[in-house]
Amino acid sequence: MADLEIKDLVVEYSSGGYAVRPIDGLSLSAATGELVVVLGPSGSGKTTLLSCLAGILSPTCGSIHVAGSDVTQLQGPALADYRRSTVGIVFQAFNLIPSLTALENVEVPLTLAGVSRKEARARATELLHQVGLSDRLSHRPGEMSGGQQQRVAIARALVHDPPLVIADEPTAHLDYIQVESILSLVREIAKPGRLVVVATHDERMIPLADRVIDLSPKVRIASRPPERVVLAAGEALFHQGDAGDLIYVVEEGEVAIVRVRSDHSEELLTTVGVGEHFGELAPLLGLRRTATARAHTVAVVTGYTIVDFRKEAASDPRLARMFAAAGYAEPNGSAGPSKKRAAKRSVKASAARRGKTAKTVVPARGVKTAARRRPR
Ligand code: ADP
Ligand code: MG
Repeated sequence: MADLEIKDLVVEYSSGGYAVRPIDGLSLSAATGELVVVLGPSGSGKTTLLSCLAGILSPTCGSIHVAGSDVTQLQGPALADYRRSTVGIVFQAFNLIPSLTALENVEVPLTLAGVSRKEARARATELLHQVGLSDRLSHRPGEMSGGQQQRVAIARALVHDPPLVIADEPTAHLDYIQVESILSLVREIAKPGRLVVVATHDERMIPLADRVIDLSPKVRIASRPPERVVLAAGEALFHQGDAGDLIYVVEEGEVAIVRVRSDHSEELLTTVGVGEHFGELAPLLGLRRTATARAHTVAVVTGYTIVDFRKEAASDPRLARMFAAAGYAEPNGSAGPSKKRAAKRSVKASAARRGKTAKTVVPARGVKTAARRRPR
């Protein structure tokens, strides 16, 4: 039985010297028999999450219980046993051995586990029959369509009858005709005694899922009243990696925009003063915050939704282009901050961004260990 319980999972990488947290405090539970779909655009952390589930990557913190034992605590033979018997993996690029037939590809993990040749052949034949490939047993990967190869890969993932199957974008390399058979096969293999977790950015999987975990940064598009925030000196308004839906205008004081390095020290990118704005990238482009905003002095900022803030965009060609690219037409009416003020802000903000990059280091926040690849 593979009931799954993930608690407060955090994975932090060092990327180009900066700290990246694709998974930051994820919790979820799922029951055996379910098909869990992990949804999100490229870079949102799907492969990272599946690697943790597969026992290939140690998270920075948090726990993952599969059938009662914490995968993050497994080591040595127990970890090897988990990877072999508890979890079956289906990869985006099939990962079949090109010189072997479909049957031999499915037999390999069985013979490696010490199963007799005859028994392995019988089991592999049965599995290939289950995935609808009885007539392709002696074909090599190069002689099969992408969909057929992926079905062989699914059969291979099932050889040890694992209670947990994970699939990383199993339809990414397939045309729409082949996608259908893989989607229904994935749905079929999630049955009593087996939990299936599929990462995809293919929204066609959603109707088949028992549970959808969306890793996309959430942006609330709807208009809502501006939010005024008073910050003490040194206080963070948002952190690098957070989802972000507001664009901020500084009313009083100064806000530092800092990038967190992988050693958790902070690099000052720019400071934003009265009348200037910051934080437009995340809500406009659907990204996570690419830097932390921290009050330099006591500061007062007002957060506007995209809908409200875009009323200012016309006066700043760079912003206007971004709004247009993100699908926001030029606004009508003039609610929100006035265009005259916006123009002043925009000029100051671009000057600030041009002139003040990567100059100063401000003190570190608490240090945590980064994720590391687990020994094989
Ligand atoms: P997805 O599978 O949703 O495309 P990933 O889990 O592959 O996302 O990556 C999530 C983020 O983590 C990305 O920003 C990626 O660049 C970063 N990342 C992934 N693996 C590593 C790694 N080994 N080292 C540094 N950064 C990584
Ligand atoms: Mg991926």
